[in-house]
Order: sequence, then structure tokens, then C-alpha cells
Amino acid sequence: ATLADIDRRNGALNAFLAVPHESVLEQARAIDEKRARGESLGALAGVPIGIKDALCTRGLATTAGSKILEGYIPPYDATVVARLRAADAIIVGKTNMDEFAMGSSNENSAYGAVKNPWDPERAPGGSSGGSAAAVAARLVSATLGSDTGGSIRQPAALSGTFGVKPTYGRVSRFGLIAFASSLDQVGPFATDVRGAARVLTTISGKDPKDATSLGAPVEDFEAACGASIKGLRIGVPDEYFAKGLDPEVEASIRAAISELEAEGCVVKPIKLAHTRYAVATYYVIADAEASSNLARFDGVRYGLRVEPPRADVRAMYGATRDAGFGAEVKRRILLGTFVLSAGYYDAYYVKAQKVRTLIRRDFEEAFREVDVICSPTSPTPAFRLGEKVDDPLAMYLNDVYTLPASLAGLPGCSVPAAPTQAGLPVGLQIVAPWLRETTLFSVAAAFE
Ligand code: GLN
Repeated sequence: ATLADIDRRNGALNAFLAVPHESVLEQARAIDEKRARGESLGALAGVPIGIKDALCTRGLATTAGSKILEGYIPPYDATVVARLRAADAIIVGKTNMDEFAMGSSNENSAYGAVKNPWDPERAPGGSSGGSAAAVAARLVSATLGSDTGGSIRQPAALSGTFGVKPTYGRVSRFGLIAFASSLDQVGPFATDVRGAARVLTTISGKDPKDATSLGAPVEDFEAACGASIKGLRIGVPDEYFAKGLDPEVEASIRAAISELEAEGCVVKPIKLAHTRYAVATYYVIADAEASSNLARFDGVRYGLRVEPPRADVRAMYGATRDAGFGAEVKRRILLGTFVLSAGYYDAYYVKAQKVRTLIRRDFEEAFREVDVICSPTSPTPAFRLGEKVDDPLAMYLNDVYTLPASLAGLPGCSVPAAPTQAGLPVGLQIVAPWLRETTLFSVAAAFE
């Protein structure tokens, strides 16, 4: 039924890039047989799950939304994919995304933009737009995305779904095609908070293949849904309700916060003083790391190779990268290479690292007074396809509320709040202290 539904509706949405019918049916049959043998089944038995195309899937094409990886078939599964399989989930296909996860609208995909299921003229958000749209359109009940500076939370908000970015290190990055390694995290989208909690519990935990994965015990996040939130202290940062915030989004978020107050939470204004530097800091650090990570795509080891007119390896690198990378990726490689170059390194890269520390300290201080921080996820509801595509700075500014928690490594989620008058989704962002995903889930579940 899922396959038929995707076949029927994906043409218009463009949420899935690849759906391996045979393999999907085989996975389903294997689970049926397991059940018939009386074996116990995993926590996600038979649940069809979509996987962002930034995650390697054994034997199944993985492009990261880029032409340069066209034809690349990974010989291994990302750890998160292996863990889903071990829980008897069905990997139903690969979801569309901005090229190398760089973008906020999915318009940077080499395979065409994804349509927002609520309004096909609008963007679903990005970069995990396919994962968000697939869940919003109910093609599947859960997907995996990745979030470097908001790529799970922002599309969750713009598409009206629930999405979680875990604490940095909570989930293995092994097999996630790297964008900015000090920021990248994998996390779930789902139609409901408990479903996302179950997926996150399944994929979390130490992985010997990722040295940055944490050994912290993995709690049962599903059990945290429904826990009482009475007396919980909610911080509301002034800096997130400033110029540029759409009035309808603000009203919806303030109403959501009042609902929490009605549940017995205590609302306190807080200060996150360095918020205004987050966009600049993030785009220096993320692009620096990207310029280094993307150096491996050279036409030798993976995917596309463009042979230049004369046999010369440097010319081959150049021709391949020129044809294989899109405009935004090239822009980031140039910016990242620039901020890392001799003479500019201290002025840009080192300074950005220092400001990153200040942003992290803002949160540390705030969390002495409050248990979670609530804000809008995005300053606007879903914008029109084409509206910001020629203005990179306007696109970057859409990340203003998600970037700080990413720079601080904190867990955050976006939960649907009341839509706008025109029926466009609005997301409430909830950010918790390091490794306190349980608190996130308790607060998010209060809205269901
Ligand atoms: N929109 C941000 C960017 O373009 C964040 C992307 C992400 O989280 N992968 O970098």
C-alpha cells in the first residue's frame, strides 16, 4: 500500500528520489517469515521509513542531492540505517534534499525541488525537505533527516511535522555524507511525537565507527512522552522575537507557550545575548568544514567523472567538480576555502570559533534558570518556491532561530503549533540542555 501510494503521489511532490520496489517487498516478506517462525520482532517491525539521501544505503543509490554522486552505490549502510534494519523497519526509499544538505528550501537539489504538501507553490523547507514532505503527505509515518544548522527543525516547521535534532554525538554519523562534521546530526521526522521518540531510541548510542558518538546511556524516549511537565521552567528568549519575525508566526508561538503555561509550566523571559552573531558564525564554520569535507569528490573515487579534452589529472578534477557541483555548493567551497586561507584564518575562522563559545555559554547560563527554551523554529511560514533562490543571504537568514542550538551542540525539536490564517504550518522550537532529549519529548508530547 505504501509503494502504491508513493507511486501515485510522488510525481507531484518529488519527495523521494529512489524507491527500490523489489527490495521493499523482500524486506517485508523477510519480516513476515520471521513472524511466521515465531521469532520476536524489533521495535519498528514492518514500519516503512524513508531515508534522507545523505545517508549511505547498501546497494541503493545515494546522491546527497548532487550530480557529482550520480551513480554512486554505497557498499555499506550508515550505522543509523543498520540500526533501523536491525529493528525490523523497512527502508522504503531515499528522500530528496538540498545538495550536500546546503540550503533551506530544497531548491538546491540537483534533482529538482520538493513541493510543500500544504501548498505546492511553496518550499517544504530544507535541507531535509524530502524527508519532511514525505511525512507531511503521509507517504510514510517516519523518515530520517540530518540537521547541521536546522535542516530537520526548519523543514519540520514549514511542513507541519514533528522533527528532532538530537544532542551532537547522540547519534552516529558513520555513513552520513559529511557537510560540517562538528555540527552534523541525524534525527527523525514522524507523524507523531511518540513515533519519533521510538525511532530516536533505535538509532541512538555509541558507535565504535564514529569517534564523536557519545557513550551516554540511551533512555527510552517514548516513555518520556506523557511525563508530567507541571512546574517545568520554560525560557523565552527576547532575541528570538525581534525584527523579521512574521506577526502570525509570533501569535501562534505565543499561544503555544500559553498552552504550556496552562499545563502548569512556568514561563520566564531569558537573554541569549550573542544570538545576533549566529548566522555569521555558522556560515564561517560550516563552510570551512564543508570545503575540507568536499575535497574528496574529485572524480577519482566516487560517482561522476568528466574527462577533460587532454589527459591531465588536475584538469579532470576541475572538469568533474565544475560539472558535478551546483552553484550553492561552489559558493560554500569558495567561502570556506577563503576563511581557512593563510592571512584570513585568524580574522574569520578563529574568531568564529570564539563566538561559537560565547553562544554556547549563553545557553549554559540560561539553563541555570530554565529547563527548556521555546521559540519560533523559523521566522516565517513556508515561502514560495523561487522567492529566495537568487538571494543567498535572505535564505541564510531563515536559519536565524535554529543555528544557535546547532553551534552549541544542543538537542532541539520542532512541534506543530497553530497554522496561519492561510493554513500554512508554524513550528514551535523547543531546545533542551545537552543530552536532555527526555525533557524535549515530554514537552512536545504535551501538544498531542
Ligand atoms: N540551511 C542551513 C544551511 O544551508 C542548514 C542546513 C543543514 O542543517 N544541513 O547550511
